[in-house]
Amino acid sequence: MLSLLKGRKILVTSHRDPDGDCIGSTVAMTLALEQMGFDAEALNLDEIPYRYTFCDPYRLIYSMNSIPDREHEVAVVLDSSDLHRLGYEMEREFPKVKHIINIDHHKSNEKFGDLNLVDETAAAVCEILYGILKQWDIDWNDQIANALYTGITTDTGSFKYESTSSETLRIAADLIDYGADINIIRTSIWENEPYNRIHALSNVLDNIKLSEDGRISWIKISLEEIERHQLNNGDLESFVDYPRTITGVEVALFIKEMEKGQLKVSVRTKSCIDATKIASVFGGGGHKRAAGFKIKGTLDQEEERILKVVQEEVDKEYKCMDSLI
Ligand code: 5GP
Ligand code: MN
Repeated sequence: MLSLLKGRKILVTSHRDPDGDCIGSTVAMTLALEQMGFDAEALNLDEIPYRYTFCDPYRLIYSMNSIPDREHEVAVVLDSSDLHRLGYEMEREFPKVKHIINIDHHKSNEKFGDLNLVDETAAAVCEILYGILKQWDIDWNDQIANALYTGITTDTGSFKYESTSSETLRIAADLIDYGADINIIRTSIWENEPYNRIHALSNVLDNIKLSEDGRISWIKISLEEIERHQLNNGDLESFVDYPRTITGVEVALFIKEMEKGQLKVSVRTKSCIDATKIASVFGGGGHKRAAGFKIKGTLDQEEERILKVVQEEVDKEYKCMDSLI
């Protein structure tokens, strides 16, 4: 990997609508490369949600408008199963990029890089990066430790999901020794809710739905509600965890009207169903327990169609689910 990076201007980037893993891995990779004397810049198409800004104290992550130039020759693409997830066209925006290093943990990764470091057993890209930075023998500091810990704790649902291995916990323990501050991380990410977000959540939960068999629960939000509550990028993250907590629910969905005629759906599953199977029917992807997809259409038109597909998938797996009762 270092031979691909040496002497070249490096772009570190990850998927749009950035989450904790993609912000943490972007910051940690950029800081490590800078420390080693490489010329690296970080980019994300969308704004960093306020709850993750603590992770990037030096404001390393540029937006497309603020990046100083487009002279980068090699790109490190993080946490993205395919290049479309970046939300911009690499070839058009960065025509000098001749090499791509793809570091990811999505099962559906398309191996689009010249070097593909894809480990679907890793709980987070930040877990993979921990291994790489150990090999590079960097000087560990609070910023790198905080960034990597953030990615791991958010992608594992605070070490709750089955992707959490004993190795995940050992890495997290090391990161605390290297200076990760769990008080700052917790208060920034989970105890930092603006009032309007909680108000929106209460409205959304007022209309929560449950399928007849009790195995699917879903919530939705319209563009009008997003605007009325003045919700920003990232404000809707984790709403979908609420329908999943219902006893007996196997699939939880959150249908969001992000733009006029454009829906984004988050899919979460509990035990029997692979969430990527549902997302892939609509051209999306993700992980076994958390996946997503985007489709064109309005809430009224598409809600029923989506539910029909999910119900079919649930019915196929009913034997597995009955064995859990
Ligand atoms: P979320 O629902 O939190 O946005 O995403 C959950 C998981 O599904 C993440 O791992 C994310 O990368 C993946 N995901 C979300 N939306 C899409 C999509 O439109 N396409 C693909 N391939 N993956 C998605
Ligand atoms: Mn991730």
